[in-house]
Amino acid sequence: MDKAERQARQAVIDTCLQMNALGINQGTSGNVSCRYGDGLLITPSGVAYDALTPEIIVAMDLDGGYAGDWLPSSEWRMHLDLYRARSDAGAVVHTHSVYATALSCLRKDVPAFHYMIGVTGGASLRCSDYATFGTQALSDAMLTALRDRTACLLGNHGMIGFGPTLAKALWLAVEVETLCKQYHIACQAGAPAVLDDAEMEVVLARFKTYGKQASELGEGDTPAVEAPVRRDR
Ligand code: 13P
Ligand code: ZN
Repeated sequence: MDKAERQARQAVIDTCLQMNALGINQGTSGNVSCRYGDGLLITPSGVAYDALTPEIIVAMDLDGGYAGDWLPSSEWRMHLDLYRARSDAGAVVHTHSVYATALSCLRKDVPAFHYMIGVTGGASLRCSDYATFGTQALSDAMLTALRDRTACLLGNHGMIGFGPTLAKALWLAVEVETLCKQYHIACQAGAPAVLDDAEMEVVLARFKTYGKQASELGEGDTPAVEAPVRRDR
């Protein structure tokens, strides 16, 4: 294994350890991968995150082959299918974080009770149909729920999300968990008002440039919010 590959494997491990530190995973639940070369690097199946070393992270090709003595995560199909279906996927995080998992058991989409639902790419956080863990049926259900989205709940199971990098995929998993917690708490106090599709279209358009500096905006981009007047020039 060369230095670059060792670093990439360590980045997968660091993401797993951050998931534990952030309290969005426990035990051997969940799995993490990143695209690497023509394939991917993925956590081995059934190994606690604090026992991971670069050597036991598993290299897979996009045709479903793997190398080495360690079996890849039982959810390798979901990771593989995501990299095959979505060219914008550079890393994938799957977790059984408490609130996302609790809501996934209701088998219902989370509506736009808060504008941040837009971080998943649409006006709702979809929940997939249920299928047994580690099956192609689960991966198929996931891909359906992920249409035009970067994250979804997995029915009676947890959540999965992807991003261009491990850091972005981890960030998204935290956002999804936060949204599920907020929605659960709001529902305890009554029926949350839901933002309509027209408002969510406005929000989604603003998300395209949110966090970007003026110099980073491309042709035709409009800033997410109207900036105040700059006084120093
Ligand atoms: P693995 O340990 O095989 O990755 O399984 C954990 C999990 O979350 C299965 O859905
Ligand atoms: Zn799982």
